[in-house]
Amino acid sequence: MRSKFLLATALVLSTAFTADAADAPKRLPVNITNQDWLKPFPGFKIVGNMYYVGTYDLGCYLIDTGAGLILVNTGIMGSYPLMKASIESLGFKTSDIKIITATHGHSDHVADMASFKKDAPSAVVYMSERDVESLESGGNFDYRRPAPEGRGGLVYDPIHVDVKTKPGDHIKLGNVDMTVLQAYGHTPGATSFQFQQTDAGKTYNVMIVNMNGINAGVKLLGSPKYPTIVEDFKNTIDMQATYKPDIWVSSHAGQFNLHQVYKPGDAYNPARFGDQAAYQQKIATAKANYEKQLAEERAAAK
Ligand SMILES: [Zn+2]
Repeated sequence: MRSKFLLATALVLSTAFTADAADAPKRLPVNITNQDWLKPFPGFKIVGNMYYVGTYDLGCYLIDTGAGLILVNTGIMGSYPLMKASIESLGFKTSDIKIITATHGHSDHVADMASFKKDAPSAVVYMSERDVESLESGGNFDYRRPAPEGRGGLVYDPIHVDVKTKPGDHIKLGNVDMTVLQAYGHTPGATSFQFQQTDAGKTYNVMIVNMNGINAGVKLLGSPKYPTIVEDFKNTIDMQATYKPDIWVSSHAGQFNLHQVYKPGDAYNPARFGDQAAYQQKIATAKANYEKQLAEERAAAK
């Protein structure tokens, strides 16, 4: 019991950069609001050298570049062992991960990043410059819970961001050149990624699109620490409506109809992730939800 307590204390202390022992941020209890986040789901090939390695609901992607692996999204606290099992079942090793990034700085996509960094200590973490504060504070601070109070502790182990990205930047490794695209709104630094994969003589324009849902409690007209939230949502939705991906996936399984189009054991078929009408439907729904909430908030403010 005592050694467990000491270990927990040591972990918390080792993850707090600035504070001295007396005011080291405490670790907040894990709060899993959706059981599908921690339900296992077998890894499988999406297209070419890109694989699904997430959980039943959390979209996480592994790309074999020929010169190491890129991991996009690392799940919530507790996803790591499920994801590692998926990665190994596909014949890869977490120690070969060279780049880690995420679609946005919410705990359900970044919380287990530190576990992957332990397996691959030299992996380089890329993240939108606008979501760095969340990662480096272990989820304590963001625009909804700004410093110095924040959430009052660490939601997950803080992550040092090595490369702060902006829209138009490229993340390059081996034969993969990913373009960073803004998907601002859901978080200030939400990000989509575009890259190519070639398979059987066909080249696919692949997009990991961060769909723009508005979390419960977020106020479009009442977010003083995120003053551009209204324009950001609009610009993102307008921009995403112009995308023409051959293959599209997202941060949550439901956002790209994973469980409707794929069941474990189904034969490899990249086209299942290429339904353009379904893609446009997702964007139209995001737009309608955004416009409805904005209209309601404007009416209430009168
Ligand atoms: Zn989120």
